[in-house]
Amino acid sequence: MNMKWSLNELYTSFDSDEFKEDMVFFENSIEHIKKWTLDNCATSNSPKEKIEEHINFHNKFSDVVNKLHNYAELTLSVDTKNEVASKFSEKISSKLSELAKPNTIFSKWLASLEGLELIIDGSALLISHHYYLMDLARNSKYLLSSAEEDLISKMKNSGSNAWSRLQNIVTSTLLVDITINDEPKKLPLSLVRNMAYDKDKQVRKTAYEAELKSYDKIAESSAAAINGIKGEVITLCDAKGYESPLQNTLESSRMDKETLDVMLSAIMESLPSFEKYFRKKAEILGYSQGLPFYELFAPMGNVNMHFTLDEARKFIVKNFATFSDKLASYADNAFSHNWIDSEPREGKLGGAFCSNLHSIKESRILSNFTGSFNDVSTLAHELGHGYHGLCLSNESALNSDYPMPIAETASIFCETIISNAALKSASKEEIFVILENDISSNAQVIVDILSRYLFETELFKRREDNSLSVNELKEIMIASQKKAYGSGLDHNFLHPYMWTCKPHYYDASSNFYNFPYAFGLLFSKGLYAQYLKSGESFLKDYDAMLTSTGKNDLVQVAKNMNVDIHSIDFWRSSLNLITQDIEKFISM
Ligand SMILES: [Zn+2]
Repeated sequence: MNMKWSLNELYTSFDSDEFKEDMVFFENSIEHIKKWTLDNCATSNSPKEKIEEHINFHNKFSDVVNKLHNYAELTLSVDTKNEVASKFSEKISSKLSELAKPNTIFSKWLASLEGLELIIDGSALLISHHYYLMDLARNSKYLLSSAEEDLISKMKNSGSNAWSRLQNIVTSTLLVDITINDEPKKLPLSLVRNMAYDKDKQVRKTAYEAELKSYDKIAESSAAAINGIKGEVITLCDAKGYESPLQNTLESSRMDKETLDVMLSAIMESLPSFEKYFRKKAEILGYSQGLPFYELFAPMGNVNMHFTLDEARKFIVKNFATFSDKLASYADNAFSHNWIDSEPREGKLGGAFCSNLHSIKESRILSNFTGSFNDVSTLAHELGHGYHGLCLSNESALNSDYPMPIAETASIFCETIISNAALKSASKEEIFVILENDISSNAQVIVDILSRYLFETELFKRREDNSLSVNELKEIMIASQKKAYGSGLDHNFLHPYMWTCKPHYYDASSNFYNFPYAFGLLFSKGLYAQYLKSGESFLKDYDAMLTSTGKNDLVQVAKNMNVDIHSIDFWRSSLNLITQDIEKFISM
């Protein structure tokens, strides 16, 4: 049984009165904000009242924008060629870009106020938005003039945003020529990539070869898109006074360089362990030169762990309940209210994601569920994102915007709950399967993510001078994979096109969307270890931590859980949990 999500809770259609009314409110609000800023940010009198007005209006406005924007985007994600949705999505983005100018004026005005801290202290509303306000003021140093910000923002719509739309379309409509059981077929990319989990070795290999071959059809346009996007990022970071795109990402991640460096050092130290795992998996599957890329996700063991969607639901809800009833009932509710779009189909985006719909206190989850244990784990992951949204649902919209690295904490925490709970009730064969699946996905988040970080670092370095050809991009990807996986992978069978199929490289506002996953995994592993020690008393702190993620930097969020993310030992101890699993796997 498959499930399609319901978007009726947002709007019943683009033609509905509610949608039209909200569009009118949205467009009027933009004019209001423009005028209000010009009228109010020229002088420094009555700052408290003005800031309060700004916050109240923007909280309401953000909720409406979130609703409109998500309705268009969610519609598009399951029907990428939907012209009406695409038109509205573009219209909303383009209208929003008109706010660059007033937002710049407001931020600079805020930063120019004398005694901003004192002003904030004089109002309960402002105190509750302290981080948001100080963050705006602090980051105003990276803003160009309001006229320049205005133009940049408009030009992004025909620049990086247009490039990512193109990339979306070419990958979601790509049909792969593949012959299975002597029958030639044309299948969507996401379906063929999912075959990496197939039980049959020949299917995995055939799928890999067909997938790589299919990229010939889109490689040139993907290269143009990635060059266009990264080129724009470099130009803008330069103009705005960021040291580098990485520094820009760290600022918007509310993460300091010290944390990243310490975490990466710990990861580098752990690579030999992962190499051992890959080589062992290769050996079991009958390879002597390390693992071919197409065997990375090969299911191990003889247990047939296949799940229908309904079985996945029961499994997830039951095991979430071992952690907390709140989490279990959130997940059960997501299934019973059709918040999930489950199966792969043509014209639908690949992969999985969760959108939190703050204004209606709900979430929607897209997955490409085919029934493997890994798919169950992915669903648990996305439900974790949704649970994070639930914890934030009583916060104001402006206090609900959390940075990338913390975004992967609740999701990965839920994956850990699922596999640990599953391990408890499993037979020896099942333990082997679950353990291997776990290590395999952790290896993705540590080792493959490292290869993506290395790739993006090199891409930015070379893109400074000129655009990169398809061949250069392939070369850099191969070099990065060799460096991260070492002798764990067979160097004759790597994946030179990973930059084509991962959408993360195609969002100009989220560069280096790779290390946040490693942060999320290792941070949540550390938290899970705490949970095992402190049991039920952990739950309250954990929810409070998630609730606070929209209004703190990462060092502070971690401190609230008594974690020092500047200490390499914290990262080492999280990585140790994975290397212990690897040792156990090898001994089995
Ligand atoms: Zn995630």
